[in-house]
Parts: sequence; structure tokens; C-alpha cells
Amino acid sequence: MNVQQRTPPSHSPMHQFPVRDGELVVGGMTLTRLAARVGRTPFYAYDRALLTRRVGEVRGALPAALKLHYAMKANPMPALVCHMARLVDGIDVASVGELKVALDAGADPRDTSFAGPGKQHAELRQAVAAGILINIESFREVRELLSICEQTGDRARIAVRVNPDFELKSSGMKMGGGAKQFGVDAEQVPELLAEIGRSGLAFEGFHLFAGSQNLKPEAIVEAQSKSFELALRLAGAAPSPVRFLNLGGGFGIPYFPGEQPLDLAPIGAGLATIVDRAAQQLPEAELVLELGRYLVGEAGIYVSRIIDRKISRGHCYLVTDGGLHHHLSASGNFGQVIRKNYPVAIGNRMTSRDREAVSVVGPLCTPLDLLADRMELARAEAGDLVVIFQSGAYGFTASPQAFLGHPACLEAVV
Ligand SMILES: *Cc1c(COP(=O)(O)O)cnc(C)c1O
Repeated sequence: MNVQQRTPPSHSPMHQFPVRDGELVVGGMTLTRLAARVGRTPFYAYDRALLTRRVGEVRGALPAALKLHYAMKANPMPALVCHMARLVDGIDVASVGELKVALDAGADPRDTSFAGPGKQHAELRQAVAAGILINIESFREVRELLSICEQTGDRARIAVRVNPDFELKSSGMKMGGGAKQFGVDAEQVPELLAEIGRSGLAFEGFHLFAGSQNLKPEAIVEAQSKSFELALRLAGAAPSPVRFLNLGGGFGIPYFPGEQPLDLAPIGAGLATIVDRAAQQLPEAELVLELGRYLVGEAGIYVSRIIDRKISRGHCYLVTDGGLHHHLSASGNFGQVIRKNYPVAIGNRMTSRDREAVSVVGPLCTPLDLLADRMELARAEAGDLVVIFQSGAYGFTASPQAFLGHPACLEAVV
């Protein structure tokens, strides 16, 4: 009998945080101490050293000529954005709310870009005044910008966000290819470029973003190479040389059993080829990669405290003070089709050998409020701290904090 086939897949080990005296160490502090420092549970904590290390790893694996942007919708906490703004070459915002945080954090407007469908007149007016690059997602946005620039005398900086004629395969979330609300379909882009040429707006280049949460290097390499080819074709119809080419990102992190960390080496090799070709064929273009989740996701944890330990018909429930209202994606309700467990641990009993299968739930009056379903964890009691790993991206701000009216959770960069 093949034993390997029968072993259920396990979570990728969470080695980014050390363990000291049986406790997880975050930002140099044991978890108990960190909880005391933050003041109350539940909270998110983001480890500065891990953020810095991750940016270094990405830079080490990718060609030096490539610019690295942080897509801040993954985690827009102001203190974290301040930290990231010093490490990366630019910030990508998806709203004027994010734009304010980025500018307050010291982001250089020249290296800040704004993407997202349905940008309104007043938002575009703000973006033009800030001097950032606006990724155009419709014909209407060009006309709005033209009217703004006629009124103010400013010259809007724009790039065209292209909805490509291909998909990023095996992506957790597809954001390009087929019919999409994002960007302008590749086949309509030449017409849009002609309109931009007549308008006198400052055309800078193209933005392509095919999808999110991808763990297959070969799929990412293929999408980036196709994105480059597409940009090259469209450049022929552009009113001026391409000075900016954002090839997207979509790098994933391992969340669920059986998933492995992304291997950056083949991606770096693919991008090196693109950088070489761009030097010949788009010599004025700055090549950009925009990453959200990959830069911040693994540096963050969500911590809640066990309030109650209950046995229902033989099954143990650990009831915590945190739940789906703070961490929707760990509950499986943010884009998952089949609910799977995030990596979870009892953070103050990391070396305990006494383990049991339990479910971790929150205080909300709904069965959806499930943070771990029948998972083997260290045997825990009321007062112990439950840690959900891989929580630095799409956590706090991607969760319905008002649902059921419990107190909001805290966030700390440590
Ligand atoms: C959401 C988004 C990102 C970030 O995606 P990640 O998967 O978090 O890296 C980047 N660019 C655009 C345009 C986005 O909408």
C-alpha cells in the first residue's frame, strides 16, 4: 500500500516566525507579550522585518531593471504603507482613499498610479491635481479627463489598462481575459489610443493585470510574456513612445493544505528575457511589476483569544473573541468555492505535544463564523491565543467589521 498517497496534504510550514519558549515570536516579541503590548484581542500584527525581507527576496530574484510597486489594496494600513513606501519603487492605489494614505505615507506622485473601474469626475480631478499616473479603464474616463484638463490647464498623465485577449491560467481570481469590467478590451485599444492622441493627454504606456493568487510559475511567465507581446503590438498605435509598462503580478502565497510557496526563479528568468527584449523594442519603457498579497500576506497574523471551550456531542469547539467580521477570508467566505482551513496554531503552545482535533469559531450568531474546521491543534484552554497565519493581505479591510456590532479589531506593525 502506498502510504504517501493516503497521507492527507498538509499546510506549507509557517517558518517565517521563530518560536521561543514555546511561543510564536512576532516583531521580536513572544505572542503573550505582544498581546499585552497591543492591549486587547483580537488584533492583526504585521512584522516589519518580514516585510523588508520579502521585498529583498523579490528584488533578488527579479531583474534589477524591473521596478517593484506595492498594490496597497492588499493592506492599506497607514503605518504599513509608510514602511512599504520606503522599500518599493512605487505605490498602486485603487481609490482616492488609498491615494490619500499613499501620499501621506510619502509616496512620490510620479511613481504612484491609480487603477479601478468607474473612476468618477471628482476622483479623477483629485488624481490629476496630485500628478499621479491614471490607468484609464474606459472611453468615458478619457473624456472626463479631457474636460478636467481643459478647465484646469493641467496635463493628465495616463496609461491604458488593457483587458487582454488571454487569461492568467490557474489564478485564484481572474481579472483579465474574456468579458471583464476591468480595463479596455485589447481590440478597442487602438481606437482609444487615437482618441487619446487627439485629446493631448500625456500618454505614458500600458497596464495589464491578468489575475491574483497564482502559485504556478509557468502560468505567470506565460501571462507576462503574452502581456509584453500585446503591449508591443499596441505600442504601434500609441500617440507617443511607451515610457511605462506595468506587467501586473498576481504572485500567490500558500494558504491551504497541499499548496507550496511560489518558486520565483523561473519568473525571474522569464522577466529577464522580457527586460532584454524591451531594451531593444521599447527602449524608453520602464517595466513595472505590481504586487500586493505576495509582499505583505505572509508577514501578518490575526490573533484572537479563546473565550470558551465547549464540547458538543463529542466535538470540541474553541470559541474565540475574533471571527469572520475581522477575517472574512479565513472563514472561507471571500471567494472560496469549497471552504478550506488557513494555517492556524495555538500561538502560546507552539511546542505542545498534547494535540486534539477541534473547530475554532467566532462569537457571531451564524455557522459561517468558522475559523478552523476540525483541525489538529495543541490542546487549548480559555485564555490561550489562536493565530491565523498568512493574514497580512485582504484581512482587516476585506472583512465586514460592522456585522453583528462587536468591537472593531486592532492592527499593529511591529
Ligand atoms: C488587486 C490588484 C493588485 C494586487 O493583487 P495581488 O494579488 O494582491 O498581488 C494589483 N493590481 C491591480 C490592478 C489590482 O486590482
